[in-house]
Amino acid sequence: MENPAHNLQNRWKKEGEKARNVLKQFKKRPPKDLDLKFETAHDEVFESFNCLDCGNCCKTTSPMLFEKDIEKLSRYLGIKPGKFVEEFLFLDRDGLYAMKTTPCPFLGEDNRCSVYEARPKACREYPHTNMRKMHTLLGLAEKNVVICPAVLEILKKLAV
Ligand code: SF4
Ligand code: SF4
Repeated sequence: MENPAHNLQNRWKKEGEKARNVLKQFKKRPPKDLDLKFETAHDEVFESFNCLDCGNCCKTTSPMLFEKDIEKLSRYLGIKPGKFVEEFLFLDRDGLYAMKTTPCPFLGEDNRCSVYEARPKACREYPHTNMRKMHTLLGLAEKNVVICPAVLEILKKLAV
């Protein structure tokens, strides 16, 4: 099976020239309505995207988990926060908690999240393309191009 990251990387190379140029401009001189531009493109793209057909973010990366996420998830699972950390998390090089395994242990075969109501903030916000202060998240959007097919479409839309 083709590696989705390579596939997206190739598509970004082939289809993303205009988007790369626009990103460069945004980085140099972000327009005042950058957040609105992103939000509009994000909403339009996700209207026709079904994450349940993809699940690539949950399959290939781990969200960062903060104390509130750990409290909420352990309560949801009915276990102690310490037990949750021990069973599912590790501290990464930056001293932040992430899932021990990818795909995420809470991802089902049907791409559904078994802890959806209590999922971490980073999962709720992924792919971070409709956030405030998007000028600080342009590098992240560019990185996510090889993980999330919707980000590729959002960036292409911004370049039209
Ligand atoms: S907690 Fe749920 S939404 Fe977050 S990575 Fe795991 S399966 Fe995906
Ligand atoms: S990678 Fe993007 S399109 Fe795929 S499930 Fe995650 S957010 Fe949805």
